[in-house]
Amino acid sequence: MTEPDFVIPPPPRPALPVQGFDQLFPLRRIWCVGRNYLDHIRELGNDEREEPFFFAKHADMVAPPGALIPYPPLTSDFQHEVELVVALKSGGTDIAPSQALDHVFGYGVGIDLTRRDLQLAARRKERPWEVGKSFDYSAPCSKLMPAETGGHPTSGAIWLRVNDTMRQKGDLNQMIWNVAEIIARLSQQVTLGAGDIIMTGTPSGVGTLAIGDAIACGIDHVATLNCTITAAHA
Ligand code: MN
Repeated sequence: MTEPDFVIPPPPRPALPVQGFDQLFPLRRIWCVGRNYLDHIRELGNDEREEPFFFAKHADMVAPPGALIPYPPLTSDFQHEVELVVALKSGGTDIAPSQALDHVFGYGVGIDLTRRDLQLAARRKERPWEVGKSFDYSAPCSKLMPAETGGHPTSGAIWLRVNDTMRQKGDLNQMIWNVAEIIARLSQQVTLGAGDIIMTGTPSGVGTLAIGDAIACGIDHVATLNCTITAAHA
């Protein structure tokens, strides 16, 4: 196949590293699930019976393991949400829950970084969440663990530490909607494809980040991730 010509140099393709492989996982879309752990729904005062819903970040907003993350503009309430990341090797529309895991390449741990003040202000005005959720470096993600070697995790501790303080600690078995159900639901809304990743919601304990904070997070038997918050870009 001949490479097409472009009128400007094409931007680099975002990608994630994979445990045990030199090759990268190419990124297509980043989807996120709103509200998937009861105790986090309760801490934000939201309705426990609500259906899951989805929002998106752009693929080039991913930050690799070990990243230095500039404190983002426009916020004074920059927060962490540690989440199980599901990476798809294939996709489709209206995927049955019983077939959903066949589309999974692997899993990782990621942080749905959030400008909470802007998210809540947008919500109050019934505006999109974009400004609160979708910004540069807003999706730090670990190396992916291939399902072929690590299987499909359904339980195990999910945790996040800031400096020496444990902030979030939950278990994957507390997810209201499991991975297969999330893939099935999301595939009713859009056509999923190879390279899509889904951040599957956070347990309780979300909190504020400051310049200089060192973050460590992980999911037992899946992956760990470190990143550091640095001064804002000049
Ligand atoms: Mn989240």
